[in-house]
Amino acid sequence: MDLQTEIEKREIEDLFEDLLKSFTRPLSLENEQLIRKAFQFANTAHMGIRRKSGEPYIIHPIAVAKIVVSEIGLGTKSVLAAILHDVVEDTEYNLHDIENMFGEKVASLVDGLTKLSGSFDSNQATNFRKMLLTLSDDVRVILIKLADRLHNMRTLDSMPYQKQLKITSETLYILAPLAHRLGLYAIKSELEDLSLKYKNPEIYQQIKIKLQSEEERINYLVFDFAKPIQEKLYAEHFEFTISGRPKSIYSIWNKMQNKNVTFDEIYDLLAIRIVFKPKDGISEKRQSFDILSLITDIYTPKPDRIRDWITIPKANGYEALHVTVMGPQGQWVEVQIRTERMDEIAERGFAAHYRYKEEGASESELDKWLMKIRELLSNPESDALDFLDEFKLNLYSQEIVIFTPKGDMKMLPKGATVLDCAYDIHSQLGNHCIGAKVNHILVPMSHVLKSGDQVEILTSDKQTPKPSWIESAITARAKSKIRDSFKQEQKKHIEDGRLKLNQQLESLNVKPASNTLKKLINHYGLHSKEQLYAEIGMGLVTLENLETTLLEKSVNKFVKFWKLSFVFGGEKKDENLTIEKKKPFLLNEDQKKATFQLATCCNPIPGDDVVGFASEDQQIMIHNKSCEEAVKLMSSHGDDIIEVTWTKSKMLYYLTHIYIRGFDHQGIANKITNVISNEYGINMRSINMDAHDGIFEGNLHLYIQNTELLEKLITKLLDIKGVDTVQRKEI
Ligand code: MN
Repeated sequence: MDLQTEIEKREIEDLFEDLLKSFTRPLSLENEQLIRKAFQFANTAHMGIRRKSGEPYIIHPIAVAKIVVSEIGLGTKSVLAAILHDVVEDTEYNLHDIENMFGEKVASLVDGLTKLSGSFDSNQATNFRKMLLTLSDDVRVILIKLADRLHNMRTLDSMPYQKQLKITSETLYILAPLAHRLGLYAIKSELEDLSLKYKNPEIYQQIKIKLQSEEERINYLVFDFAKPIQEKLYAEHFEFTISGRPKSIYSIWNKMQNKNVTFDEIYDLLAIRIVFKPKDGISEKRQSFDILSLITDIYTPKPDRIRDWITIPKANGYEALHVTVMGPQGQWVEVQIRTERMDEIAERGFAAHYRYKEEGASESELDKWLMKIRELLSNPESDALDFLDEFKLNLYSQEIVIFTPKGDMKMLPKGATVLDCAYDIHSQLGNHCIGAKVNHILVPMSHVLKSGDQVEILTSDKQTPKPSWIESAITARAKSKIRDSFKQEQKKHIEDGRLKLNQQLESLNVKPASNTLKKLINHYGLHSKEQLYAEIGMGLVTLENLETTLLEKSVNKFVKFWKLSFVFGGEKKDENLTIEKKKPFLLNEDQKKATFQLATCCNPIPGDDVVGFASEDQQIMIHNKSCEEAVKLMSSHGDDIIEVTWTKSKMLYYLTHIYIRGFDHQGIANKITNVISNEYGINMRSINMDAHDGIFEGNLHLYIQNTELLEKLITKLLDIKGVDTVQRKEI
């Protein structure tokens, strides 16, 4: 067994002492001894085991414990659990040993962590579900799990590429949103940034460099803007700090993607944060508003841009006042005002509530949220992936506040309808809902509520849930209740649906073969045959355009003659027909091997950063790495990830959609088509141009070989006088 070297022993000792020092409140002697005991125990248990990076294993649990203390702010029991979190999973000791030495609570936390640590393989969705179950038992398990993941992400360098992709996708898909929902903003941002670093290293570096070069300008702006505020606050004897809000690399990238804007357009928005120590005897809210008023004496506020999260905190506990004002250089600046207590909650989220609980901070909204999760999880029927999707929707959603006729306040996600509200109050109220009076006006159950609405739910005994209700609801709770209510009828629906579909297919002379069904399942965004039949049976999926739907898909046959071969170490192997997941694939056209398909959601073309997924029938689906569907797949089917690369080829063409917009003038359409077909010799499948009010818009479907050519073409099109925008779009 290779044990630790002297240098390593000293390093481990230092790390451990550093952990003990990081407690902000003094540790009792008893607790310190417990923590030392846990360390000795874990160190012995993991002795001789090393991480992929080569360091002694024990460094990992110590680092996780350190995050638990200094970045999440949890106490002794959590630290013990963090130190011991991999002992049961990786060594010969079991839960009883831990219970005997450290008590029941620590053992149950370790148990939760062990259950979550199992490699997230074939059925990750089930694993997430397990994780969420734990969440409702003791939130600390999830908080420690997040610390565990954060340390693993910080040390991801030594992992093989496939593992990196899997871990980062999982992190992006569920752990970062979870951290957000629990209010751990700092950890959420770091998890996202690290994910981006491994998924798109180039983009990550580009933004990082730009951020660094912007720093000086920002500092100057902050200084200039903050100076008069500082003076006023001093005059009023406030103790405070002012800082420019650092933006995370991921959030910048996300905005650039979603809003299709450049780095500079995003970075125009300046934000500063004032954190102050409240004076004794006056409420925090009063003092926060006093500071707000000092600021708006200096700078003019943007109307409607004062956000009061103190009177009604966000559901994750966030409290602050936000105001947007016109800065001295004529740009909008967002100012956030928080007390030290609010700031800690904002940075550490739920964990900080433990500390301030005695001081009257409310965690009731979070409690309610946890209760809802518990309830959702108690429905054993719901499909794990479905559940995850809905759960995720609820993670990021913003809240609105509505009032019952008695004046009780309720929080609902933004976009919630009357039906959501009814189910939120009680499932029977939901099941019998026929509509509502919103602010005394009669509205249907699909009516979308706004913050501040007064809602009176109207019911009828005769009312029962209908399948179409699913579309009138957005919350996971309402949807799952509606599904529950006609679950019994499911079997009948499946049978009806099967008959209906088979009849229709027959009339089109198509056999209900598995690839035909697969096409339909994909087309409607479903998961299984049963689901397809059921939704047809219930009338949720109408087969009106069945023929077109089946034909539509055949457009993609265009790319199907591409064949796939796998190359390892530069050598082609011919006899191997099955897919080896661990080795990179080379995408080219000259092999008669397992076939692959280009995903229709993102339509990758050669040169795009792509990833592959193996299906059961040895087909490989190729997605753009940034495609949302791919992220979801990577996090739910991590073991099916296949590394793929493009070969250089001039022989094949991919259908690509280009959108073009500009000022209309005579002959512009001619110029555009001239560039495409004469200068570049590119074939067009379709071209649609439309002009109105002096603006023209065009949608071109072109057959293009690779991104290089596409980029050249876009640059060339932008050179045409009058052309303002040229973008690649989804087909
Ligand atoms: Mn671990």
